[in-house]
Amino acid sequence: MEGGFYNMSEKGRELFEDVKRKINELKDNDSLYSKFIYIWRLACYGKFKSYDLRYFYADTSREFVERYKERLIKMRAEFVENIEDYVEKCVNIMRKTNKYRVFLAKTNEEAQEIFMNELGDNNIIYKSKSLEAKDAGIVDVLKKNNILIKETDLGDVLCQLFDYHLPNFTLAPGIQFTAEEIVAKIKEKYHVEIEPTSDAIVAYFRKTYRPELLNEVKVSLTSANAISADDGSIVLVENEGNISLLTRATEKHIVVSGISKIVPTVFDALLVAKIQERIMNVDGAYISFISAPSNTSDVQGARVFGMYGAKEVVVILVDDWRTKAAKENLFYKDILKCISCKSCDLICTASRAFGNIYASKYGMGAVNIVRDYIHNGIETAVRDGLFLCTGCENCTNWCPVGVNLAEIMRSLKKEATKKGLTPPPLKHYQQKILRDKNPFK
Ligand code: SF4
Ligand code: SF4
Repeated sequence: MEGGFYNMSEKGRELFEDVKRKINELKDNDSLYSKFIYIWRLACYGKFKSYDLRYFYADTSREFVERYKERLIKMRAEFVENIEDYVEKCVNIMRKTNKYRVFLAKTNEEAQEIFMNELGDNNIIYKSKSLEAKDAGIVDVLKKNNILIKETDLGDVLCQLFDYHLPNFTLAPGIQFTAEEIVAKIKEKYHVEIEPTSDAIVAYFRKTYRPELLNEVKVSLTSANAISADDGSIVLVENEGNISLLTRATEKHIVVSGISKIVPTVFDALLVAKIQERIMNVDGAYISFISAPSNTSDVQGARVFGMYGAKEVVVILVDDWRTKAAKENLFYKDILKCISCKSCDLICTASRAFGNIYASKYGMGAVNIVRDYIHNGIETAVRDGLFLCTGCENCTNWCPVGVNLAEIMRSLKKEATKKGLTPPPLKHYQQKILRDKNPFK
């Protein structure tokens, strides 16, 4: 540091150029970034408006969230303060009562090893969106080992069909493709002609892919929306029915989840599921509470596992950075409270302006940039667009569980600045403030 200024490093310049290049692509109407942002901005606008509408229920989603916000904030704070007790309680009850096979992985590497052992000789895995498996590096390991990953959520199926690798919105990952593009791709890949309508496309996948999901799945992978520490229930929310199939019509269901998905009680788990549904105004068709592998005691009272549903449920709880963040009061500790409702993306000024440029390999928005920082360091966070964050604090004011995301982003920017990673335009303002006490002079 010289005279109050942090010098910009070569790395900082390189990262700045990288982000700038992506932003310039937004001006090209045919680029993947601009195609995404067009639909993304519409979605943000529509969803935001819908917070105050009463079309599904008597109350608005904003009223629903406000009614439970205080309780949720308390519940998440209580969990983070006593994280080790809750994890221990949850693991014990799962082993004793739920009859899952439970692993508590201290690190991501441990989780990856456990997962590969559980997969055994299988070279195909069917999965539903599982951010937690990405977070634990399991998806990368599967790819490295040439395991065929079969997505089942239609949006993800479409992304695979198009070989789309940019970050997308977890709740509607294929939203950027038009019906015309989809049917053209189906024709190119499967030589089948269908009408360019949503109904026809859905009917096509129902006819072709659903039988496979009903009959072929040996091992499936899901995450959990919440896990209750008092009875070990795994809660999963969905609207397509793919998760129901993956958790029932399979031999082995593997759940990969960070320990921060644990909540104190089964009622808290239901509340988290309902909040996730209502905050996004999605009409979630199914909420599953999984409490044991499929079983029956109908033959002379002897309990036998694997009647119609999964014979085995394997739970891999991943700690990695989480207990350390809570116990050592690390500046990103608040992220442990996050229930992954993803609604902060919709009201984020940076996300609205830059779409899937403001994102990491884990997904869109600030939460996933923080995730990338935790796993891959500050340079990666800058490349993800850290400095596009305006500091508006919309995220913090909105978050239903009290995550102070804006403060975490501020801390990341401070760290980046100390390492000489501040982009030149901001550097310019910094110099004016320090020299002239006025950024606009
Ligand atoms: S940080 Fe964002 S995704 Fe997490 S709970 Fe808050 S609003 Fe939802
Ligand atoms: S403070 Fe940053 S992350 Fe939060 S809403 Fe504003 S721009 Fe987005």
